[in-house]
Amino acid sequence: MPLRIPLRAFKSGSFRLSVWYSGFFISCSVLILIMTHYFLSYTLLRVDKTAIAAELGRLTTEYNFRGLPSLQRELAENKNTYRGKNPFFVRIADISNRTLYILYPELWKEFDLSLLGTNPITNGRWTYLPTMDEDFELLLLSRRLHDGRWLQLGRSSEVRDLALDQFFELFFIIIPPLVLMGVAGGTFLAARTMKPIQNMIHTVQSIVNGNYDARVPCTGSRDELNELANLFNEMAERIHALITGMKESIDNVAHELRTPMTRLRNTCEMALQADKDVDLYREALADCIEESDRILKMLTTLMDISEAETGVMKLDQKTVTLSSLLTGLTDMYQYIAEEKGVALAIHVPEALYIMVDPDRMTQVLANILDNAIKYTPSRGRVTIETKHSDGRWVITSADTGVGISPKDLPKIWDRLYRGDDSRSTKGLGLGLSFVKAIVHAHQGTIDVVSTPGKGSTFTISLPSNS
Ligand code: ADP
Repeated sequence: MPLRIPLRAFKSGSFRLSVWYSGFFISCSVLILIMTHYFLSYTLLRVDKTAIAAELGRLTTEYNFRGLPSLQRELAENKNTYRGKNPFFVRIADISNRTLYILYPELWKEFDLSLLGTNPITNGRWTYLPTMDEDFELLLLSRRLHDGRWLQLGRSSEVRDLALDQFFELFFIIIPPLVLMGVAGGTFLAARTMKPIQNMIHTVQSIVNGNYDARVPCTGSRDELNELANLFNEMAERIHALITGMKESIDNVAHELRTPMTRLRNTCEMALQADKDVDLYREALADCIEESDRILKMLTTLMDISEAETGVMKLDQKTVTLSSLLTGLTDMYQYIAEEKGVALAIHVPEALYIMVDPDRMTQVLANILDNAIKYTPSRGRVTIETKHSDGRWVITSADTGVGISPKDLPKIWDRLYRGDDSRSTKGLGLGLSFVKAIVHAHQGTIDVVSTPGKGSTFTISLPSNS
């Protein structure tokens, strides 16, 4: 069965990356080999030229001092240099460039040496004489002797070319493993690089298919892709929290709206069915307004809680004194407390600076104070105090009220939860959910300690710089 690779695989980023890497690696390797070949050929030529020039200098001195017979003897004795592995070619010509003496190995018959007599001869210049089939060339250097004759010395390119040919063969032996290494390296690199992106694609696909808990696996390394994965997870987490918060809010609203809406409808219906009595109509309309206000307040508070919990709420943070936040509240709650026969004491130093959203924090303090007075019977006491502890501002509200039962204690922070004993009092059951969400949005914490029948102490802790 023929192996079928989907066309998509060839268009994938991994495939392209692997082709790019392999191509680049192979091209670089071939370029390095070509450059090495060039430098090897250049170096071998230089070695030959240096050797020829040195030997020519030596023979010229020999000739100039001892004459031609002595030179011939010398050449005959040095068989290794003139007939060995990489021999020199030697020619002595008269003033008219006619050959007087010539020495070269038998094998060099392929060179058309007769051309040497016809070609112009120049002192100290490199010339080349090719073989008849132009496979090799003879590299020659000429020098004029003291009596006007010419001494020519040269070497065939055969040894050099042979060394280069061997390198070339090596070249072809090296290329296949190089290509294999390039492809393997490219595939490995592409797989490694694309893995986090593929993980991200799978995660997005999972989320699209409804699995909102899916997250991209992170390696813990500090590279950009891991950072992107972390950011992606953070974003998914926030969106998830946002969706959950909105869903919860909608569920709560749908559930909680049923009763006031029914009440609203019944009030209108009863007013319609009653006799034409203006006072009754007025009373019904006033009830409707009150109920509508309650619903509006509930909706606004629910939206605020959701925004604060999901981090969407924009806090307009400023440095203010805590006493300035309480100023407006003190008068109002002092009056309510007095009415109820509750003693209210607020001990807040003048110069206690905190960085908060003043409007939101005032709402927080109002809710806490309101609850404390509301759930404290007459002759009770409510005390607000502050202290600085472990780099945080701690605000406590202690009352000697009804307290909260251990059963209710964990639930009081839930939206729309009201303790069994509180049903008779006015309230939406949203105050503490709002307080907690706003305090958390300021990077603070809120706790409660309560003993039924004795009272409750709420403790808000905010960072000093908040
Ligand atoms: P609400 O006061 O409108 O009922 P909250 O969210 O403010 O709603 O409070 C939730 C519940 O927590 C209340 O119903 C009440 O049972 C309890 N609670 C809050 N503050 C106090 C307090 N200071 N003393 C006793 N119970 C309290």
